[in-house]
Amino acid sequence: MEINQINVEEIVKQILSEMKGGPVTSSQTPSTNMPKTSKVALLTGKQKIEVREYPIPEIGDDEMLVKVEGCGVCGTDVHEYKGDPFGLIPVVLGHEGSGQIIKMGKNIKRDSMGKVVNLGDKIVTCVIPCGHCDACLNTPSRTNLCENTGIYGLISDDETHLNGWFSEYLVVRKGSTFFTVNDMDLDSRLLIEPAAVVVHAVERAKTTGLLKFNSKVVVQGCGPIGLLLISVVRTLGVENIIAIDGDDARLSMAKEMGATDTINFMNHKGIDALVGAVKDATNGLGADFAFQCTGVPVAAANVWKFVKRGGGLCEVGFFVDNGDCTINPHYDICNKEITLVGSWVYSPQDYPITFDFIKRAKSIGLPLEKLITHRYTIDEMNEAMETNMKQLGIKVVFINDKF
Ligand SMILES: [Zn+2]
Ligand SMILES: [Zn+2]
Repeated sequence: MEINQINVEEIVKQILSEMKGGPVTSSQTPSTNMPKTSKVALLTGKQKIEVREYPIPEIGDDEMLVKVEGCGVCGTDVHEYKGDPFGLIPVVLGHEGSGQIIKMGKNIKRDSMGKVVNLGDKIVTCVIPCGHCDACLNTPSRTNLCENTGIYGLISDDETHLNGWFSEYLVVRKGSTFFTVNDMDLDSRLLIEPAAVVVHAVERAKTTGLLKFNSKVVVQGCGPIGLLLISVVRTLGVENIIAIDGDDARLSMAKEMGATDTINFMNHKGIDALVGAVKDATNGLGADFAFQCTGVPVAAANVWKFVKRGGGLCEVGFFVDNGDCTINPHYDICNKEITLVGSWVYSPQDYPITFDFIKRAKSIGLPLEKLITHRYTIDEMNEAMETNMKQLGIKVVFINDKF
């Protein structure tokens, strides 16, 4: 009898709380000892990150305050750290983060998938489309092409200060896209953003009609993006994946992520020898499809030569301008009828696909968590950047040890 009474009480509490907009439990109620300040890792000059402490601003009706759990370090962060190519300094970097909602404006009800949002939920953020450019107005499925996209971690310092994930707290602004991800572990949550980049690339590749179960797929470049890309292609069921890189440790990780063959380009001097190695791995013909995942111009030129006649190619390695490359319009494009797609970041629509990919990859035994090789606290972010610049390990992440 007692148990039933408790159940009834719980149900009444639940209904009442849902009428107010969400379940309220003691742990989810904003406590009176809300933090007043937040430390941030602020990039104040080239190769110089300083820890600063700022007051946490009031949260508006369309905003959220998120306690940061952690955030991956991206190649883009390192470019900005090295030379400020985006002109953002001073800036709190970090766009691959995950955290917990600890304060929520009254207009926040659902995430970008339509799921009801509650205090205490773990979330990841996606892009902040501007809503008024050509892409936003005319191709809403391609808001990745928005001319004025905002991304947390790539917003210059302003009066809010808590604009990037290399911080203890983040303010999620009006108009942001975000997703609740309570059903994933932290390592998986930290891989969502880079995984969305490659899921988008594979979605682009699928539009060519050239990705099939028995396609021979080349992935050039085995950094975090190339390795995740291999795991996405493998998770789709592609049987033949040839990974190309110059580092044996990365190539053995490529095998763990699902590559069936590996080619270390250091063992093949000159482009003809390298093309020969690719042909040996593809029945003498070349790849049905290739993904270019390095930021190296000569590699972007070479990849065309790995693709067979009638094959396809996706360029996903140049998120910054690393220079030009030379291709031959006759041999590389016209004569082979290669279908090329470019891939640019991701749209919010790619996120739900990414969640399914991560769960499915784990269920078929791909050890995605092994991609995270280094963890640093907020006081160690210069070291985190240096580690990434030296290409030690694979994925370097920031962990908020105050979480
Ligand atoms: Zn990134
Ligand atoms: Zn726009």
